[in-house]
Amino acid sequence: MDKVILITGGSRGIGAATAILAAQQGYRICINYLTDAAAAHEVLAQVHALGAQAIAVRADVSNEEEIIGLFTRVDEELGPITALVNNAGTVGLKSRVDEMSESRILHTLRTNVLGPILCSRHAVLRMSPRYGGQGGNIVNVSSGAARLGSPNEYVDYAASKGALDTFTLGLSKELAGEGIRVNAVRPGLIFTEFHALSGDPGRVSKLESSIPMGRGGRPEEVAEAIIWLLSDKASYATGTFIDLCGGR
Ligand code: NAP
Repeated sequence: MDKVILITGGSRGIGAATAILAAQQGYRICINYLTDAAAAHEVLAQVHALGAQAIAVRADVSNEEEIIGLFTRVDEELGPITALVNNAGTVGLKSRVDEMSESRILHTLRTNVLGPILCSRHAVLRMSPRYGGQGGNIVNVSSGAARLGSPNEYVDYAASKGALDTFTLGLSKELAGEGIRVNAVRPGLIFTEFHALSGDPGRVSKLESSIPMGRGGRPEEVAEAIIWLLSDKASYATGTFIDLCGGR
């Protein structure tokens, strides 16, 4: 079967590493991004250089109209989607809950919870045999924060990833009889630009001593698990979580 993957937030970090690995595995690829077109096109050039058919599409995953536009581009330019990676995510500035505004909390929940649920909905409308589809795979990019809670940093973010974990469990059971597997990865402290959003770009290096393995992770180490979960090698895995936290 032709492999067509949509990676939300594919322009940097874990999403970009996943796009490059997907190119090496023969996927046709849609790299979604929100603001940084130059970064998205840089990843696009890298996957093209690996011989993959690919497109870069700007869309906000917290807005259903834009999600519909995104999936339409995939339908028309790459063919039927077989794999969705709900990777796009955000976090607010490091703060206690009593310092958080409603708009910041809503922004986090809309991007990290509403986005993956809506993207999954539009993937299921294409993958499920109920609608003429042939099955498929979804991987949600959660976080070790779902287990740890992120006190004094961003409990709203941790709660959003807890919700994503519960969504993963429920959806995996809902779709298990329809040839659609749903799994998640929970990265720990990974070297990406994500930490600048919390106001601490050097966060991973600073916290390395708290990681049992003694080092932060690389985006490629997370991408390997995502691509494995999407592959036939993981054919009996659904509702599964892979922690990539260096033992944290
Ligand atoms: P990153 O380097 O900050 O990249 C985030 C990506 O998401 C970018 O491509 C960004 O696009 C995109 N994005 C953000 N909001 C979006 C929206 N509303 N719609 C569409 N795209 C959006 O992050 P990362 O570290 O690779 O993280 C990827 C995922 O892993 C996230 O879900 C994050 O929560 C999770 N995670 C990361 C770590 C870590 O230590 N890095 C740990 C645990 C979990 P633009 O650049 O165009 O805005």
